[in-house]
Amino acid sequence: MEQRSSDRYRVAVIGAGPSGLYAAAALLASGEPIDVDVIDRLPAPYGLVRYGVAPDHVKMKSVIRVLRKPFEPAHVEFLGGVPIGEGGFPLDALREHVHAVVHATGSSVDRALGVPGEDLAGSLGSGAFVSWYCGHPDHVDLDPPLDHPGVAVVGAGNVALDVARVLARTADEMAETDVPGPVLDALRSSAVRDVHVLVRRGPQHVRFTPAELRQIGDLAHADVLVHDDGLLAAGVDAPEDRRQRQNLDMLTEWTANAATRAPRRVHLRFLRTPVEVLGTGTGGRVSGIVVERNAIDADGRVRGTGETEVLDVGLVVRAIGYAAEPIPGLPFDAATGTVPNAAGRVVRDGTPVPGAYVTGWIKRGPTGVIGTNKGDAQETVQAVLEDLPGLPAPARPEPAALRAALAEHGVRPVDWTAWLRLDAEEVRRGGLRGAERVKVARMAEMLESALGSPVGGAPTPG
Ligand SMILES: Cc1cc2nc3c(=O)[nH]c(=O)nc-3n(C[C@H](O)[C@H](O)[C@H](O)COP(=O)(O)OP(=O)(O)OC[C@H]3O[C@@H](n4cnc5c(N)ncnc54)[C@H](O)[C@@H]3O)c2cc1C
Repeated sequence: MEQRSSDRYRVAVIGAGPSGLYAAAALLASGEPIDVDVIDRLPAPYGLVRYGVAPDHVKMKSVIRVLRKPFEPAHVEFLGGVPIGEGGFPLDALREHVHAVVHATGSSVDRALGVPGEDLAGSLGSGAFVSWYCGHPDHVDLDPPLDHPGVAVVGAGNVALDVARVLARTADEMAETDVPGPVLDALRSSAVRDVHVLVRRGPQHVRFTPAELRQIGDLAHADVLVHDDGLLAAGVDAPEDRRQRQNLDMLTEWTANAATRAPRRVHLRFLRTPVEVLGTGTGGRVSGIVVERNAIDADGRVRGTGETEVLDVGLVVRAIGYAAEPIPGLPFDAATGTVPNAAGRVVRDGTPVPGAYVTGWIKRGPTGVIGTNKGDAQETVQAVLEDLPGLPAPARPEPAALRAALAEHGVRPVDWTAWLRLDAEEVRRGGLRGAERVKVARMAEMLESALGSPVGGAPTPG
């Protein structure tokens, strides 16, 4: 680590997901005398690249090679395992150490369907379900019920397809990915046979990424069956959007598919809206889902017909989008789930809040691909660079002072070297399973691998 001095600027980036890491890289690339601390509540960096991107999307995860660049060689400090805000290190206390704070904390709250029965056991948001199979320490004990042949996945986006694919893959296929051992065990004993993807609109409307949809068709051990009430056979107007046309062509081709002896089936059910999740007894668990059939009216609008059907499912995963949680001390727009900002400068009642910036999903909402966060972060960093000369110097700018303050709060950060120890442990576990890595999911085990703290027993493979 370079020698730091108090005549330099200090910027804290909260959140080591793509937007935070692109921001750190842009701050570094500016060539200005800026020291950057990247802080994350988790001991591991990379945000949703690690805890959202599907385990079988190995190529997508290779973006990590780009995202880690600010730490190698160590130009930027990583402070992992440091939650900022409620229940963690106070934001005001952090502000004493830095000129500016870039908030890059993402949007992690599942949107609700707003239908009766949604809170039954076995009715989950995709955020929780995806976090579970991705080995997020907050969801290690989720224990989703996979003991029933039917599962409903509600949503018409790529996340719905990710969830359906993971459920439809065989355990042997998933063993080649980084899913934690207990997740693999659960998938191995899964009784799931029929994965119903419920899409409110018609096949001509869906905006899946065609490559994602293709992967459903390419599943080696699952049939894909299209349920469109004969819409495609009757003929629909070709959409103007190229991706929608590609999706439509694929779906039209698949209408000819018939069920084979494959162990699993993915049913793409169009023009279906869930209206109630059924359960067994009070406080019981999911036993089915009531779905209303929709029709497309003369104006091209999707309307409920009042006609319903019940699907026999034991698990419902809703993949209908994410919202952010307010950041204490910052303004928040509940309608958009974002922090109000102008080109990344946090704005309260039309006035910029000095030294406060946002980037990524917390800035623009949960949209776009990983690469979208690069331009987004560069815009925010531009604002930071313009403002830095006019921002008041922090009271305690020395790096040791922040470390000391964290220690006073009982926090021992996972720095980059410590993260690399955890990383190496995951690669070691991967070697035992023939995978590139196997994630360590329990927080105590993560910290033990990273910091060597005597927390619990020795790590076990997987
Ligand atoms: C299920 C899923 C699958 C996806 N798959 C793909 C894909 O295949 N390809 C693609 O291009 N894009 C994909 N995306 C989108 C992509 O992941 C996002 O564009 C990107 O991760 C958003 O980056 P971010 O930095 O804003 O947020 P995040 O990635 O969510 O990072 C936020 C970080 O902030 C940290 N944090 C939160 N609160 C605090 C706090 N209080 N204190 C300290 N740290 C905190 C979190 O731990 C996290 O590390 C997917 C998204 C999801 C949800």
